[in-house]
Amino acid sequence: MTTGTAQSSPVIDPHGGTLIDRTVSGEQADALRAEAAGLTEVTLTEKQTADLDMISSGALSPLTGFMTRDDYDSVVESMHLAGGLAWALPVTLSVPAGLSADRIALRGYEGDLLGVMDVAEVFEADRRREAELVFRTTDEAHPGVAQVYAEGSTLAGGQITVFQRPQPGFPALHMDPVDTRAAIAGRGWKRVVGFQTRNPVHRAHEYIQKCALETVDGLLLHPLVGKTKGDDVPAEVRVECYRVLLDNYYPAGRTMLSAFPAAMRYAGPREAIWHAICRKNYGCSHFIVGRDHAGVGSYYGTYDAQLIFDDFEPGELGIQPMFFEHSFFCRGCGNMGTAKTCPHDAEHHVHLSGTKVREMLGRGEMPPPEFSRPEVAQVLIDAYRGQG
Ligand SMILES: [Zn+2]
Repeated sequence: MTTGTAQSSPVIDPHGGTLIDRTVSGEQADALRAEAAGLTEVTLTEKQTADLDMISSGALSPLTGFMTRDDYDSVVESMHLAGGLAWALPVTLSVPAGLSADRIALRGYEGDLLGVMDVAEVFEADRRREAELVFRTTDEAHPGVAQVYAEGSTLAGGQITVFQRPQPGFPALHMDPVDTRAAIAGRGWKRVVGFQTRNPVHRAHEYIQKCALETVDGLLLHPLVGKTKGDDVPAEVRVECYRVLLDNYYPAGRTMLSAFPAAMRYAGPREAIWHAICRKNYGCSHFIVGRDHAGVGSYYGTYDAQLIFDDFEPGELGIQPMFFEHSFFCRGCGNMGTAKTCPHDAEHHVHLSGTKVREMLGRGEMPPPEFSRPEVAQVLIDAYRGQG
């Protein structure tokens, strides 16, 4: 059963108009779990487990399952589902070659049986073509490309039904789209901006978030807590950083913090579109896109993740992107700014490279308060010391 958004609700409609719910509970769940125990099983990767969970909760509305060939091909080639709705990334389930079953059991990467899929189709995908068009590179050194190649080329598509949700990484921050929508409606927010991050938030991103918040009713700080590269800051450390930042520097009545359970693809521009569509399903009307959103290495141009929004017709995505430049504290201006708003030379700007910041934190040294809030820096220093 799906739950549409009531006509009177101020919250933006989900992508495709209906918030998908592919979960079952109670006796239905018990019956399906019992049936699943006797079915051919496929074990999902961490990314696929996250995708399954997000399909089931409606975070990937209008998807009701893993993609069949027509949707897969259409998304890879033209960033639209076969039915014509905008969609930027393939959401696929890889299976062993020769799989033949009408219904399969889906086991999460942590070992639990989670649901079933009614197999509509098993097909061979051209993963190299997918890499070229989706990631703009076929280089196996790209972590998203490597992941797609490792999954193999045999894919199965079809509607899923989930009887057990995977354990959320952060139960305290877990909010399904239906929950964030209710919270947004409850606060009476009409315009809500979503912010995606997989890093601790320093002054630069705080500034961008607050610039955006000046023009809307509320901010959803929506950190990605799914699988990331090994060298990204661990999610539990980041979550603690977000908490101390919000507690000390953000108005509680204008801010919500919850987890975005997706796995990173590092697909840059295409992932920016996908992230925006997902946030629309969570109830955001606006979405912040900074420089090199969801990028990795130097595979994407600085503004590619902003420019790609022009590939869609106005209104096609439904959610309004808000583009931002790199920001910094300027001693000449005496405040935060960007190349758009500050006339001074770089020598006036407080700039620290990521490497430099990591070195300082590793030595237990506080970065300047113009770069990082001391409460946030302290959490990171403690984390680095814990590792050492
Ligand atoms: Zn300045």
